[in-house]
Amino acid sequence: MIGIVIVSHSAKLAEGVRELAMQMARERVPIAVAGGIEDSNDPIGTDPMRVVAAIEAVYSTDGVLVLMDLGSALMSAETALEFLDPEQQKHVFLCEAPLVEGAIAAAVEAMIGSSITQVIAAARNSLAAKLQQLVPLLPQPAVQPDAESPINLTEALTLKIIVSNRLGLHARPVAKLIELISQFSADVYITKNDMLVNARSINQVATLTARQSDELLFQAVGPDAAATLAAIQTLAFNNFGDRTDDDQLGATDASATLATVTSHELQGIPAAAGIAIGPVAFYVSVLPPVLERTVDDGEAEWLRFQTALQAAVVELQTVQAQAQQTVGATEAEIFAAQRLILQAPELQAQVRRQIFDERRNAEAAWQQAIQQVAARYQALDDADWRARFADVLDSGQRVLRQLMQAVLPPLHFTQPVILVAEDLLPSATAQLDPKKILGVVTAGGGATSHSAILARALGIPAIVGVTDLLSRVTAGQTIALDGGTGRIWLAPTPDQLVELRQKHSQWQAAQQVDRQTSRQPAITRDGKPIRVAANISHPNDVDLACANGAEGVGLFRTEFLFMGRNQAPDEAEQWAAYSLAARKLGPRPLIIRTLDVGGDKPIPYLGIRPEANPFLGWRGLRYCLDNPALFKPQLRAILRASAEHPIKLMLPMVSTLDEVQRTKVLLQIVQDELRAAKLAFNEALEIGIMIETPSAVLLAEPLAQTVDFFSIGTNDLTQYLMAAERGNAQVATLANALQPTVIRAIQQVVQVAHTAGIWVSLCGELAGNPLATPLLVGLGLDELSMNAAAIPAVKARIRQLDLVQAQDLAEKCLTLHSVTEIEHLLAAV
Ligand code: PEP
Ligand code: MG
Repeated sequence: MIGIVIVSHSAKLAEGVRELAMQMARERVPIAVAGGIEDSNDPIGTDPMRVVAAIEAVYSTDGVLVLMDLGSALMSAETALEFLDPEQQKHVFLCEAPLVEGAIAAAVEAMIGSSITQVIAAARNSLAAKLQQLVPLLPQPAVQPDAESPINLTEALTLKIIVSNRLGLHARPVAKLIELISQFSADVYITKNDMLVNARSINQVATLTARQSDELLFQAVGPDAAATLAAIQTLAFNNFGDRTDDDQLGATDASATLATVTSHELQGIPAAAGIAIGPVAFYVSVLPPVLERTVDDGEAEWLRFQTALQAAVVELQTVQAQAQQTVGATEAEIFAAQRLILQAPELQAQVRRQIFDERRNAEAAWQQAIQQVAARYQALDDADWRARFADVLDSGQRVLRQLMQAVLPPLHFTQPVILVAEDLLPSATAQLDPKKILGVVTAGGGATSHSAILARALGIPAIVGVTDLLSRVTAGQTIALDGGTGRIWLAPTPDQLVELRQKHSQWQAAQQVDRQTSRQPAITRDGKPIRVAANISHPNDVDLACANGAEGVGLFRTEFLFMGRNQAPDEAEQWAAYSLAARKLGPRPLIIRTLDVGGDKPIPYLGIRPEANPFLGWRGLRYCLDNPALFKPQLRAILRASAEHPIKLMLPMVSTLDEVQRTKVLLQIVQDELRAAKLAFNEALEIGIMIETPSAVLLAEPLAQTVDFFSIGTNDLTQYLMAAERGNAQVATLANALQPTVIRAIQQVVQVAHTAGIWVSLCGELAGNPLATPLLVGLGLDELSMNAAAIPAVKARIRQLDLVQAQDLAEKCLTLHSVTEIEHLLAAV
């Protein structure tokens, strides 16, 4: 008999679900619970061992279905699987179905003797009945989503308004308008000149391209017609929710950003040096091709479409909530607009018609409908609305992903392009192929965001934080960029192209010279050797690092092994990756940093809920210490790889001494386990920590007594010291590692470390900036670890230096009070 396991943070909830499911299944199906944890003060949580016990209680080779609530329940269930023997594992299935409905549906299905596959299907489909019943009750447009039904406006009430917003009725005000109308029972239409559109459809209102001073006629019919028009009048009076200072803001922003650039140029934050010239490609994730098929059951297909649409809408709500934290509520409203794009009545009517009348499958119907809408946006003569084209495709793909149950595929281009995106997740940037991606330009991000770091590592010229980006370029347009200065040419003239190509050749030639000497050690003219190492995210990065003269790896960001997949790599996979990196390095040292999840490196399956301040939240070592089931396999893998290679272990995001001590205890446990299992490891493994929180700087003395080395993470240290987020373009000037505050912190840490007799590295992005090299050498750093592409230039710079002069320079920098003064002084060296 099939067994069912209910995993919940709450023992009471788990028991309640069991009670309900048992009653439905007339007590004939074995159901076990794993709820809460063994802590009478705080019993909410999940415990993998309880899950193991519950599985064993109902285990049968017919199959066991495990349903769980959320967050760590998934992790606990996954961990529990690892404790089962391989034979048992084959019969246990973790299922994403909703807990209550899923448990009941599964229990009933199991009761009638169905197979485990049928039970899983029943659980997964358990929301269908509810959805079918509730869809008619969900807020529906008063107008039936049938674009072809005749509109009778003879009885309509009317309202004329003159658009007052300087930017006209762009996406945000229209989203406000639709949200307002949805609260009333009335059909509302807008006419501009002789064009009439349904006011509930953002896609139709967009086609009006209503600008400041345009006259709009609103016509409303239905029970709430008068109230609706009155509310619209108030909204219009309030500038449709736009700030009245948007005019000034727009003007100031533009003049500030474009002060020294022409109307054919844009200025962003330089993120990775190099020149790129090529056609624009927007980053829109690619899905597998949509296959067309004939559907027999139109109702079922329509329901499948509605379910996918609802899921995409819910996802967008989450994205909006997260974006509110990072870019602010106003900017995040674009995701509300994306929701409205998806929910536009005529779009749904079109899909419905295709499913029922033409018997097309939902994917094919939706794709055609969304492409038509996107094409209409692209043809609009208003730049702001045209820019929403990317939103149409983006939100449209979200629904397709749901329908196809697709995971985001790798970025793929057939010809070399300049990639233009609102922003890129590190996991997406990590997949970029430098042969196909000539350059990257993003509207969001800062110079030390992980996307920028990765672009540098890949040697792809990149510019981030380009205000106004998406509305100024179109797909296929040839643009040019200089990643060293942050300048973008939207329509480069032949003369400019010649000049840029020349600059590109010079840059390549200089790099070539540096590369030729890059394998020689970096020793100052007066004989001080500085170790120059590489930062890597993957074992294969070692090849480029060594080719560029790296004397080791100073930072292996292991979190990238955990990204872009559905579950964590196990001990064996990690051991293989660490050993491979070490083997490629030969005798050169390899510093492996334990998982630094969180912040701007989300890993969805780890169950970290969206946080108001992810950089201040559950990240790095904090997360690992709370999740030994995840941390221990990593420690074991690193230790085992250390048996044969010169490996060191490094901990990220250390804030307290206690965190280091607890990790050491865990390491002891892991070492004991390895000894017991007769698995070799380096008994004298060196342990170091990242100094990247202000707390670690101030606690450097006791920390230095506890570990073998420090590595200063200026990317995070800068954002925390300056209270300026590293990925936020608006505060990029503050989040500059050459701020006097940061330099003082580096000096303090180096001094404390050397007094305690340990060595110090610096592995933040500052290490790869040749402008900062004399300062860092003068401050006494023993090692600089950077992206591989920067190594030749930094080594060349070190060889030109004189240690005593560099120390004088550092002394001078420490007396300066602004980043500008420091940069000027360094530029003059
Ligand atoms: C840093 O914070 O400087 C660092 C090197 O770590 P990461 O960039 O991976 O956060
Ligand atoms: Mg860091």
